[in-house]
Amino acid sequence: MSEKKWSTISLFTIWLLIVPPGISYFLITQMPETINMVYLMLFILFGVLTALFPIKRDGKPITLVMWATLPAFLMYGIAIEMIVMQISIIATLFVSKRYQKQSHRFFLNSIMMFILSLVAAAAFYVVGVQPGSLDFWPLLIGVAVYRLVHTTANFGLLNIYFEARAAKRTYTMKDVIFEYATLIIILPLALTFYLTLNMVGIASFLLLGFPYFMTIAIIRLHSRFESINEYIKTAGKIGSDLSVMTDEESVTTQFIKNTSELFRADYVFLFTNHDQWLELEKWYEKKRFVDSSYQTIRIGEGIAGKILETKEAVIYSKRKDWEQHATVSAPDDMESVLCIPLVHNNETKGILLLGSNRKGAFGDHQLKILDLLGSYYIVALEKARYVQEALQRSERCALTKLYNYRYLEERLHFEMNRMSMGDIEDLSVVMLDIDHFKKVNDTFGHQSGNDILYGLARILEKALPDHGTIGRYGGEEFVYLLPDFSKVEAVDFAERLRLLIRQHVFTIIPDLGEDKYPVKVTITSSVGVANAPTDTDEAMNLLRNADRALYIGAKQAGRDRVAEYVK
Ligand code: GH3
Ligand code: MG
Ligand code: MG
Repeated sequence: MSEKKWSTISLFTIWLLIVPPGISYFLITQMPETINMVYLMLFILFGVLTALFPIKRDGKPITLVMWATLPAFLMYGIAIEMIVMQISIIATLFVSKRYQKQSHRFFLNSIMMFILSLVAAAAFYVVGVQPGSLDFWPLLIGVAVYRLVHTTANFGLLNIYFEARAAKRTYTMKDVIFEYATLIIILPLALTFYLTLNMVGIASFLLLGFPYFMTIAIIRLHSRFESINEYIKTAGKIGSDLSVMTDEESVTTQFIKNTSELFRADYVFLFTNHDQWLELEKWYEKKRFVDSSYQTIRIGEGIAGKILETKEAVIYSKRKDWEQHATVSAPDDMESVLCIPLVHNNETKGILLLGSNRKGAFGDHQLKILDLLGSYYIVALEKARYVQEALQRSERCALTKLYNYRYLEERLHFEMNRMSMGDIEDLSVVMLDIDHFKKVNDTFGHQSGNDILYGLARILEKALPDHGTIGRYGGEEFVYLLPDFSKVEAVDFAERLRLLIRQHVFTIIPDLGEDKYPVKVTITSSVGVANAPTDTDEAMNLLRNADRALYIGAKQAGRDRVAEYVK
């Protein structure tokens, strides 16, 4: 048997030994002579209603049940108060959905409330007041003492509980102050209730119940708006943060982390749509990304697959509601689900699924906010993709996909800067030009020339040493920037490169003439090498020197050779 089950059983045993016998004892010994059953029912109704509709402060429910149990105590004494309180506790179980088992919670709260009722009633008697008294000032003091002792004992018991379980306290100093401050509501309310009950009888339930519950309804409505407002504000902030990001991966991870936090979701699954198949792109579980090669889901399969089909968002409050749809193994402790399609330009780009271990964790307004966030995300993602592409376009040459002249020049300055800072000692430039490339074009056509340029680019890329840079300098000219390459090393590299190129056989399909048969072509190249600081200290001079070595030293000397710059 699990530890949890044992603790529930032992708790139940303690409860059985204390609460029912305790209440029975007080029912026998402290029973008032007459009890108005209608009053009793109404007290219970008010207690239950108050527990069912708590006010929330920072997400923690505040119940003011005592405004109904205290008049019951003043009218009929401890036994009736205990009954009203115990029944109200059952109602609180329906309100807050926590991880703990409900039976466990009930027994625990029931025992605690029993002790609190006992201690508070004792304090009331000690002050010298009796239930049933109509003596205003002593009554006022008695009620104040009752509430204060009740609150103090409550925190005392909670401390003992947390201490015993070696758990962290779930309440803050602010909660403590707030709880004590509720005395100023409870005290007049309970007293007025009790006094009017004695004066006008049953009408008192209407006189006090009506304004009380109306006020609670207004406060709850207000706090709902407040929380929606808060959501919208945070969503707006998340949206604007995402919109300035330029990397797709960061947009996605940031989006997932933020939504998980905002909606207090224990799980986030992001699926992408590939032609009516969903692929799990991200799995975020309890604040961590889980690496998984998950199976793909077909349209119509599972919760996400269904949404891909219907394009309609869903909310599930508990596991039972979705378990039969889930085809892939969902987390064992997941209860609530909020799942939306990510739509852009009428196209479902993906599915986002949020899961929580709590029941009823997601409501309608969360869905609307998530929908809004989802569109922020998709737009931010498209934008990041666009920026990346634009950046690529501006740095790369479209034909060879190598860096372009602009980037090379920037990089050259960067490397020279590093050299002046002492990060690197040398910088060599190797400039390469294809020999008689015009002839290739004239013989096989411009398209075939392009194919050779592309093929050569791949060879050059493959030969690129670590930390070096290769780019297309012009038409059929290429440049290597080689940090920490001495001139000798660079010449050596250039020589190997020259041999590599002249040995390579390019296969092209000529685009001139009728015959479209593959043709084998070889090329040769001329290469110039210059080095900083040996030849110059200035970036543009370094390029010029390599260029001069190429044309004077290699081309003019007969081509298919490597030449180094000489002053
Ligand atoms: P050499 O360098 O050995 O002196 O002879 P070459 O024929 O290569 O000389 P030049 O530099 O004068 O000509 C370069 C030729 O490269 C001109 C042009 O037809 C060709 N070329 C330049 N850019 C491209 C390109 O993007 N695609 C194709 N197909 N050809 C290009
Ligand atoms: Mg050439
Ligand atoms: Mg040229």
